[in-house]
Amino acid sequence: MKISGTCKRDGRPFLVEQVIGGGGACPWDGEPFSSDYAAVLVESLRAAEVAGTELERALAAIADLAPAFELDEDSVLGELREHLARLRGRVVERA
Ligand SMILES: [Zn+2]
Repeated sequence: MKISGTCKRDGRPFLVEQVIGGGGACPWDGEPFSSDYAAVLVESLRAAEVAGTELERALAAIADLAPAFELDEDSVLGELREHLARLRGRVVERA
């Protein structure tokens, strides 16, 4: 899964893989996105992309089987939406 985001400091878009490659820094302003937890951030971003790809593949495989059910979107996406909203709402602290 190619996850993208927007830097709260400069407003520019980035791909998560750019942040992973840059050791947790914004590819545009070069500042760390989480100065005290860069390693945890990079590891979690990587885990999110891998897990997202697995979830996409599993759901695609399920859909390909055309089973006699549908899945409740909120049961799959509900918590994900909450975490993303939490990220969106968090105010950036300028150093
Ligand atoms: Zn930036």
